[in-house]
Amino acid sequence: MDTPTLYAALPGMDRLLSSAECAPLAKRHGRHALAQCARAQLDAARAHIAAHAALPDWASSQARLAAHIASKLEARQQMALRPVFNLTGTVLHTNLGRAIQAEAAVEAVSAAMRGAVTLEYDLDGAGRGHRDTAVSELIRELTGAEAACVVNNNAAAVLITLSALGAGREVIVSRGELVEIGGAFRMPDVMRQAGCILAEVGATNRTHLKDYAAAIGAQTALLMKVHTSNYAIEGFTKSVSEAELVPLAREHGLPVVTDLGAGALIDLAAYGLPAEPMPQAMLAAGVDIVTFSGDKLLGGPQAGIIAGSKALIDRIQAHPLKRALRCDKLTLAALEATLRLYLQPDLLRDKLPTLRLLTRTPRAIREAAQRLLPVVQAAAGAGFEVKVEDCASQIGSGSLPVDRLPSVALTLTPRDGKGGTLLALSNTWRALPHPVIGRISDGRLWLDLRCLEDEAAFSANFSS
Ligand SMILES: *Cc1c(COP(=O)(O)O)cnc(C)c1O
Repeated sequence: MDTPTLYAALPGMDRLLSSAECAPLAKRHGRHALAQCARAQLDAARAHIAAHAALPDWASSQARLAAHIASKLEARQQMALRPVFNLTGTVLHTNLGRAIQAEAAVEAVSAAMRGAVTLEYDLDGAGRGHRDTAVSELIRELTGAEAACVVNNNAAAVLITLSALGAGREVIVSRGELVEIGGAFRMPDVMRQAGCILAEVGATNRTHLKDYAAAIGAQTALLMKVHTSNYAIEGFTKSVSEAELVPLAREHGLPVVTDLGAGALIDLAAYGLPAEPMPQAMLAAGVDIVTFSGDKLLGGPQAGIIAGSKALIDRIQAHPLKRALRCDKLTLAALEATLRLYLQPDLLRDKLPTLRLLTRTPRAIREAAQRLLPVVQAAAGAGFEVKVEDCASQIGSGSLPVDRLPSVALTLTPRDGKGGTLLALSNTWRALPHPVIGRISDGRLWLDLRCLEDEAAFSANFSS
């Protein structure tokens, strides 16, 4: 066919849009998006003819062109933020959204999204409610704090706490605790941002109580402790615990603030997990303010929880940053529902996904691996050897990287021994409708099955 004939073979806009193939697309995507997409694809087809003197395959008939337009329109509606199977072995994976929410939280959020809620409204008419009221009552009950306040995340909690309690004055911190959490969150930078003057004491590996004592002066606002969650200093070390710091601070009338990072509301050691500092223990030891994340070990939504003395919490609540950092109704709904689960501690392991996943036994995970081995072998094809192997999961999100949880993985080794083959498989599986995210190491793809709960959905994913 010569070029003019090829151009003439393409349908005109009007005929295309009114065709039987395109009519349902208008219903599904709206006339505007359909027309825009059809125009763009007709232009692309003409450009292809100009370049290759041939019709592109996808425009070789009106039906194929319509199908092509349909797939483009669908692709535009594909959410970029979408569910994946987290088989990385890291339970609280920051890049994959950290804690999976409890069903109760999911329901509370949907209800809060669908209609009006009592966000700052007292049903008994006692006065304008505060948006943190319900959640702070729960935090008080669970931690023994006098008062609590909730902001966007723990970074925000530290920022507003330092701004409200330390701006223009000195905050004393050990050199061993000038942590970088990741991204731009470095303790010295946050101090500066909050308008505090950082007073470093001690050495990287050793800080003594006398170092804090020597640094206290007229300009001191507070003594700060930061949980060194994502690294460990080993060997010739010494740090001063919150409990040791409290009497010194009291002597000088200064508050002790501690940033716990993950902060577990339950004793993880009782579940056979590595122990993490608990906010209630810190408060009982006399710490004035603790801050911790909502979506780390707590297993709730992204949030920063500040708990402690009423006088200090009142100052934080009244700080102008509170308005900028406050949580929305969805976060508060999810957090309240999650905290209510802690009121039923014997049911927690069942109802809180984070705890359920962290406490899954290697035996249960191994059984899942054996069940899924044939599915994974069939999906990967004969080019891969699939095996059940022991591995180690990580808690993630700033929990100690040295604390590993014994787990079980399906591993895929390319029979041709080529890294490229492995990478291609990993990429293909990341492009599945429900992407499968594993981890490549030692020449194989590891699928740690600790966080896989919906095996039926996992299997169906490969056949869709
Ligand atoms: C994780 C962490 C933070 C930051 O918490 P986000 O909730 O991620 O903002 C701050 N401090 C410590 C010690 C942490 O571990």
